[in-house]
Amino acid sequence: MEELRRRLVEDLNDAIEGELRVDRTAIAAYSTDASLYEIEPLAVVFPRRTRDVEILAAYSADNNIPLIARGAGSGLAGGAIGSGIVLDFSRHMNQVVSISEDRVRVQPGVMLASLNKQLHERGRYFAPDPSNGRVTTVGGMLGVDGAGSHAVRVGSARDHVETIECVLSGGQRLELGRERLAGQDTLSDAGSLNRDSAVILSESSQSDSLRLSTKTATTRRALLLQQLEQILRENDLLIRELQPPLLRNSCGYRLRGILQGSQIDVGRMLVGSEGTLGLFTEATLFTTPLPRNRSAAILMFSSLEGAIQAMQLILPLEPSACDLLDRRLLSLGRGADQRFRDIILPDAEAGLIIEFSGFSEREVLQRLDDMQLLLNDRRIDFQLTRRASDYDDVELLWALPGNVVSLLASLKGNSRPLPFVEDVAVPPERLAEFLPVAQRVFQRHEVTATLYAHAASGQLHFRPIMPIPSRGDATAIEAIARDLYRKVRDFGGTISGEHGDGLSRTAFIRTQYGALYRVFQQIKEVFDPQNLMNPDKIISNDPSLTVRYLRRTRPMGDDVSAVHSKPLLPVMQLAWTAEEATDAAVRCNGCGTCRTQVSPQRMCPFVEGNGDEEVSPRAKANVVRNGLSTNTLQEILAQDYASRLLDSCFNCKQCQLDCPSEVNIPHLLIESRAQHVQAHGLSKTAWLLSRVHTYARMASRVSFVTNRLLNNSIFRRILQRILGISAQRRLPRFTQTPFLESQRVLRNQNSGAPGSHKPTVVYFVDYFTNHHDPELGEAFVRVLEHNGYRVFIPQGQTVSAMAMITNGDLAAARTIAEQNIRELIEPAREGYAIVCTEPTAALCLTQEYPMLVRNDDAGIVAQQTTDAGSFLADLHRRAILKRDFSPLPMRIAWHTPCHVKALQKGTPMLELLALIPELKVLTIEKGCTGMAGTFGIAAANFEKSIEIGAGLIREMQTIDAHAGVTDCSACRMQMEQAATIPTIHPIKLLALSYGLMPRLSERLKSRPGGLVMS
Ligand SMILES: Cc1cc2nc3c(=O)[nH]c(=O)nc-3n(C[C@H](O)[C@H](O)[C@H](O)COP(=O)(O)OP(=O)(O)OC[C@H]3O[C@@H](n4cnc5c(N)ncnc54)[C@H](O)[C@@H]3O)c2cc1C
Ligand code: SF4
Ligand code: SF4
Repeated sequence: MEELRRRLVEDLNDAIEGELRVDRTAIAAYSTDASLYEIEPLAVVFPRRTRDVEILAAYSADNNIPLIARGAGSGLAGGAIGSGIVLDFSRHMNQVVSISEDRVRVQPGVMLASLNKQLHERGRYFAPDPSNGRVTTVGGMLGVDGAGSHAVRVGSARDHVETIECVLSGGQRLELGRERLAGQDTLSDAGSLNRDSAVILSESSQSDSLRLSTKTATTRRALLLQQLEQILRENDLLIRELQPPLLRNSCGYRLRGILQGSQIDVGRMLVGSEGTLGLFTEATLFTTPLPRNRSAAILMFSSLEGAIQAMQLILPLEPSACDLLDRRLLSLGRGADQRFRDIILPDAEAGLIIEFSGFSEREVLQRLDDMQLLLNDRRIDFQLTRRASDYDDVELLWALPGNVVSLLASLKGNSRPLPFVEDVAVPPERLAEFLPVAQRVFQRHEVTATLYAHAASGQLHFRPIMPIPSRGDATAIEAIARDLYRKVRDFGGTISGEHGDGLSRTAFIRTQYGALYRVFQQIKEVFDPQNLMNPDKIISNDPSLTVRYLRRTRPMGDDVSAVHSKPLLPVMQLAWTAEEATDAAVRCNGCGTCRTQVSPQRMCPFVEGNGDEEVSPRAKANVVRNGLSTNTLQEILAQDYASRLLDSCFNCKQCQLDCPSEVNIPHLLIESRAQHVQAHGLSKTAWLLSRVHTYARMASRVSFVTNRLLNNSIFRRILQRILGISAQRRLPRFTQTPFLESQRVLRNQNSGAPGSHKPTVVYFVDYFTNHHDPELGEAFVRVLEHNGYRVFIPQGQTVSAMAMITNGDLAAARTIAEQNIRELIEPAREGYAIVCTEPTAALCLTQEYPMLVRNDDAGIVAQQTTDAGSFLADLHRRAILKRDFSPLPMRIAWHTPCHVKALQKGTPMLELLALIPELKVLTIEKGCTGMAGTFGIAAANFEKSIEIGAGLIREMQTIDAHAGVTDCSACRMQMEQAATIPTIHPIKLLALSYGLMPRLSERLKSRPGGLVMS
């Protein structure tokens, strides 16, 4: 394998413009998609141009190497993985090429939501609507014939394709659409490739006359059309008899209706071929005017049977969509989004979302009325909880299934709703009859299954709740699928409605279609005689394909079948076992939500703007899972490319918040970095920046000199060259007396242990306040004292060590954590709140210390710790916060730090600022600042940090505000990086408004300038 990889690099690296990768990071990252499967590819290529794809297809044919097309890798059947070269079209070939009145020309890697964003500006859209439109690529949709809730009205991807530019095995590029057969003349222009100029890269075992790659595109086209016509004509009866005329069917190749008189719609046939017939490099799609008049309603039912009964009555009314959601999905929806709380009844057993479209608003509303009348008339027990006819309101209802499908993975417990029979479809009129039959199949196998259905088109998404299997496990997956598919067939349905066959269903296509399978084989032979295009998908002789490539979900050494020769489990650096770390990684089901670049949520700052799979949270989970399950984590991390993965996380924790499965990517990355640090040590800059507190004392003592030097560009360039600290970063000035050495802290009242009658708060100060902003410490103490609290500031406390933890320097971090825990444990046991003005410190004490130091004390300290905003907002909610605020007539620009979001207590500081009269808060919603503790200080990261924070930096330069406000010191640094106004901590505004520190008004006048902050 390694030899072959070396040869690939030699042969292809200079031949293609895109990148070719054979390192372990890329191999691991691309070994899975959103399915249950895992296959390590030989290599991964990111093609830049169609020419790259042609070269690869020629090379593949000459050297018998399979090619696997991949979009977002969100397919649920395992269609985008394989053992050959994976071509990721989403990285570079992701552009909208041109837009005309009713058509659009796209590259395959364009994300559906991005395409529709551009089309919406013209009042049009690409109509098929898979629920994960923010993730899926158009190439992937064409690959599986994707569709969504509105399939009954708008059809599937296939119904919106005019032509597809397809590179065949051998490297010939053809534009294929509706082709005229007479005399082999075609309607679309044959893009003829001159093979003489193609690169023949390797010695081939085949003679030139047999080589597919030596044929011209014109020859391939002529042969292809001739052979296709013959196959389709000869098997016309068989096709009509065995391929059911269903609304939804992506099982096998679509042959029904492809040959029509003297025309053959090859483009339509290619849709749903899962990359097994050719690689799509461009496509011309029909666009549709945005629907004008729609009405929608959501109905709640006290039983699933009631919903099915209602659905049966509604379907003849020809709704444009009618989706059924079971109890589990509804309760996930209720829990996930405040907006759904009013419309989903807590005790509902099932729900229907129904949409009607029409020529006027009156008409569509009338159709809703008719539906209600009909259900009432038939005495159906239901509650209509929301009607909508306005665009946004209708979209809100459709956001419900869009959100909850991926949330299914967050169900608690050892079992998960597994996608393997998640795509069956039956004739809609037989749906009600089929559902109890399907339920009985699941009962027989003693599993329950979640259900989401596009009822109007007969599409049923079942996910049996079962333990996640690992490769080699005995599992009921095959047996359940076999039994269910038998019933599906009896009902005239299909085993794959819109997700394709992939690895999970290919083994069952023969049973689905009988003699028609032979015709599929002939079609495959015409396009791909060497079986190199995505082998084992649709066409395969492997009867065990459904379970052969199941993901490895246990760490190597934990293999129950290898008790005698168990290799040792890897030693973990965080306080978890290899099994626990693997479980955390296995929680990632590959849904790809974390790849999206058009999310309303914050998502990973490294993915935003480039959609690069390798830096996505999904890739991180995959690499760690792969490394642990093959005991090669150290080996993977030692390779050059791994540094990209390791460097593309600064522990902001946004992915964990936004991931439907709540995968703990940040800890998986900290573990990986720690493993790397243990083997290879820490970089000089990381070492230095995470120990800044050790020399900050000295810098403070001579702060007059230090601060002048920090503002001196020559000194800063030297600092950059020697220590790697960016010469361009505005740095904070050092204070002469650190807060922990100030009179405030050294005074008597603070020296004793807790025990006073006054309510007491323990203040955890952290680095920035101590060495750069003691005024904040003073302001916080005064605010607390003003509210009747005694403030205890343990003198032996030190920094939180978040920088060390993030850098993977866990041994040093552990020593510091233990010191802080020793200082804090006694008051924590007394039940005092430990409050931090730095949200990162609060996060570190609550979420990182228990993963560093696994003992009860760490847990108790974590439990008692909170951030200042939450503490004070809680006083306010309990009506015990003093309200004697005087007006502050000013405008401020507010930024919510990632770590405040990660604490999951809302934005308490905003609640508090709202109490200050005449203070106008302008909120900046530009995502992560890109500063991330010490990340943005390092010269190596400076540009990336500025790139991530660009939106916020621009906003700070132009916003009409007197000051920026945020509670995170690192965010503050970025907010002041290019701004002319200062950024201050909200606690200072509270202290100022309380009249406790009038001198703070001067702070608002100070200006960042040169290389130092305000
Ligand atoms: C949470 C979730 C919700 C989903 N909801 C829906 C839904 O509502 N409706 C629906 O239809 N599907 C849905 N899916 C399934 C999946 O997202 C779709 O099948 C999607 O269209 C796949 O797109 P992708 O870009 O991820 O393709 P991939 O998974 O990368 O590939 C899918 C198939 O297309 C082939 N392919 C990709 N690019 C090309 C190309 N350039 N040339 C030739 N073949 C290519 C691949 O080889 C593979 O066989 C959902 C999946 C998830 C995880
Ligand atoms: S990390 Fe979460 S969001 Fe990303 S693919 Fe995995 S499960 Fe989906
Ligand atoms: S913690 Fe932040 S930087 Fe790291 S992967 Fe998650 S979102 Fe990306």
